[in-house]
Amino acid sequence: MLDDLEFDDGGARLLEQIAHQEALNAATRFPLRDEDLADTLCKKLPEDVGIAAIPRSKVAGATMHDVWHVARIMEALRISREDQEVHGRCGNCGEPGHDTGDCLG
Ligand SMILES: [Zn+2]
Repeated sequence: MLDDLEFDDGGARLLEQIAHQEALNAATRFPLRDEDLADTLCKKLPEDVGIAAIPRSKVAGATMHDVWHVARIMEALRISREDQEVHGRCGNCGEPGHDTGDCLG
């Protein structure tokens, strides 16, 4: 069921896709346990998300709580990165496209 799962790299779809997989799992006759679903998702998620989720609970393995936690952080980072690309301006010269620390002007 989850075997054909493929995550796009980042994007708003990440959270959407995790929610979708949770719903799919819940709808099956024999749903995976929380840890097993998390484990499966961690192997399918973009590498940085999967790796980040696992060490949070070394003993028991990742839980869906971990997966959501990391995915939300990744999403927030992506949004702030995009926001900076669109709206970011140098604090020194006021030009977009670079940070104050990178300013050559
Ligand atoms: Zn500048």
